[in-house]
This record gives sequence, structure tokens and C-alpha cells, in this order.
Amino acid sequence: MRMNRQGMLIVLSGPSGSGKDTVLGELASLVDDLELSVSLTTRKRRPWEIDGTHYTFVGRAFFEEKLCNEEILEYTCYNGNYYGTPKNAVDDWLARGKTVILKIEVEGAARIRSLYPDCVSVFLLPPSLEALSQRLFARESEDEAEIARRMEIAKGELAHAKDYDYLILNDVLDYAVSDFRAIIRAERQKTCRREYMISEVLYHAEC
Ligand code: 5GP
Repeated sequence: MRMNRQGMLIVLSGPSGSGKDTVLGELASLVDDLELSVSLTTRKRRPWEIDGTHYTFVGRAFFEEKLCNEEILEYTCYNGNYYGTPKNAVDDWLARGKTVILKIEVEGAARIRSLYPDCVSVFLLPPSLEALSQRLFARESEDEAEIARRMEIAKGELAHAKDYDYLILNDVLDYAVSDFRAIIRAERQKTCRREYMISEVLYHAEC
């Protein structure tokens, strides 16, 4: 059967420390035709982060120029830094039938939902606030004040979790990854994304 699959846009949100990167890292090797959008950010690079892989790290002037040129699909100012999704890559992947994941916070997710009403939104839930705080301390990349700020932001973000299509509990990593994989499999098979198959079956039946 001819591959005529429409691209699918997935928005993944979850508080800082909820494990989004870890889950996505596992998922990338398990799901075909997946593209992870690399955001631009003005925040400082963490020691283990690779420029161009985890983020594209840029200065404020560069980011603001991209904004003026309408090269940013959505953006936010989180904890004093800009974060934004580059527009061209996302549109290009969708046109090529890829499943594109944006790992963004709740305001950006709301913006994407209004721009792409057929997107799939997923919220990654930590098992508890205590576990979240422990994870933030364990990664040793933020000081105590920064962690306290991120915990406050996290509480606000959790209040938006109910707006998402799916909630994945990230208690046991393997379960969270397999839940995410199941969501992608099911969403790809929705009739609205596979309607082209019906005419292809009918056409083949006539031959
Ligand atoms: P972090 O500094 O922990 O890497 O990211 C802080 C928050 O910004 C996370 O919730 C992350 O998902 C979000 N974020 C990362 N990139 C983007 C983006 O391009 N747009 C928006 N709206 N949020 C982003």
C-alpha cells in the first residue's frame, strides 16, 4: 500500500524534572518516523547537554531577531530565559508525514493546540512533588534557589495537566515509555489520519 500518511504533531509537557528527556530518549529508538524538535533557548547549557541536540543555545539578540522574522512557531519566557520552537523544521517534517514531538511547557502547548487543533497533547506526571524535587536535586544542575523556583512553576503547570489529551505517570520509566508508544500507535491509526487507505483498498479491489 502506498505510504500516504499525514504527519502528526505531538506536544509533550511536564514539569522540569518529570523525565521528559529520558522518556523521549528511550522512545526515539522504538518508534519509526519520529522527529524531536530542537528548541532555541537563551538559557545556559548544562554540562551534559549538546548544542544542536538538546537545544540550540543562542543569545537574546539572535532569538529576538528570529522572533521578528517570524521564524519561531511559539515561544515562552521561562524563569527569565527565552525558549522557542523553530517553525521551518516542524512544517517540513509534517509535510513529509513524520511524527513530530515538541517538548514544551504549558503556555506553548496551549498556543500549539490553537494553531494545530489536530495535535496530540501528552502530559508527563511525576509520581509526587517530593519525587520531583529529589530528581531536580539529583541532577545537580541547578542551585537550591533555582530548584525552589522550578518547583513553584511545576505546581502551576500541574494545574494545566487536565487540559491534555493524555496523562502519563512517570513512576516506572519502562511503563511510561511503553504508554507513550501505545498512544502514538493508536493515534496513528485514527480514521482521520488513515482515510486515504479506504480508497486505496477500494481501488485495489477493482483491479
Ligand atoms: P529546561 O530549562 O528544564 O530545559 O526547560 C524549561 C521548560 O521549558 C521545560 O518545561 C521545557 O519543556 C520548556 N521548553 C523547552 N523548549 C521549549 C520551547 O521551545 N517552547 C516552550 N514553550 N517551552 C519550551
